[in-house]
Amino acid sequence: MSGAPLYGCIEAGGTKFVLGVARDHERMLATTRIPTTGPQETLAAAIAFFADAEAEWGRFDAFGIASFGPVDLDRHSPAWGHIGQTPKPGWSGADVAGPFGARFGCPVGFDTDVNGAVLAEGLWGAARDADVATYVTIGTGIGGGAMVEGHPVHGRLHPEMGHMLPRRHPADTGFAGICPFHGDCLEGLASGPAIHARWGASLSELPADHPAHEIVAWYLAQLAIAQQAMLSPRRIVMGGGVLGTPGLLDRIRIAAERLANGYFATADYAELIVAPGLGDRAGLLGALALAQEASR
Ligand code: ZN
Repeated sequence: MSGAPLYGCIEAGGTKFVLGVARDHERMLATTRIPTTGPQETLAAAIAFFADAEAEWGRFDAFGIASFGPVDLDRHSPAWGHIGQTPKPGWSGADVAGPFGARFGCPVGFDTDVNGAVLAEGLWGAARDADVATYVTIGTGIGGGAMVEGHPVHGRLHPEMGHMLPRRHPADTGFAGICPFHGDCLEGLASGPAIHARWGASLSELPADHPAHEIVAWYLAQLAIAQQAMLSPRRIVMGGGVLGTPGLLDRIRIAAERLANGYFATADYAELIVAPGLGDRAGLLGALALAQEASR
């Protein structure tokens, strides 16, 4: 297999960077994780890991970086590959992609973590053979990526599905939401911290008959309906810490079917709204998908 291309894979998260070296999606030759501190220190540690890998396996053919956001994805922008305005100290405007291209002299694919994940799920996971698919993660925040005809959707910024403005649940009163920009956007109402702020516990800690389950499912179902209305995906992959709550995925499917009310030609919401096929590997495999795309 030594003739096969060699890829550097970087899942750039707000709390940790996960790094991998791979020739294909079956197996990582090496992986490591490093805490996300300041950009200089973090990127230097990542480059050191890949320099060691280069000494062992030879030159890289491409890098893929699936990054926390917001990020600049415009290839014609001088800030391509940079992080946008972020509350994370030191990272606003940080050039994440540039150092890897400069050090290793190969193409670098760069995208949001969720756009990477939807590509990986489309290639090897729960959205295989889907021409249009989305990937949503519901955890500390809510992020969504979209793939159309095998390509991630960018546009002016990139999809920011967590900040859509849902209809309020009639029983969800007296809570303003926690998004610093919008208050009661989806992330402000249904992310892990929003659940905690409202009910003092995570969703999985609340009893199964607690109204929080129906309320959160109803908001996340609105995200599914919005995606159907705008993109017509064949698969909506939903993951992240909050989705680890037993029964939540089914509640979302039931709520979505009710909200759709027979529209969108969807016979089976269990077939449309699915759990990730790649589990927690979607991040690093997303970076691999971006590297492979960059090398073509
Ligand atoms: Zn918001």
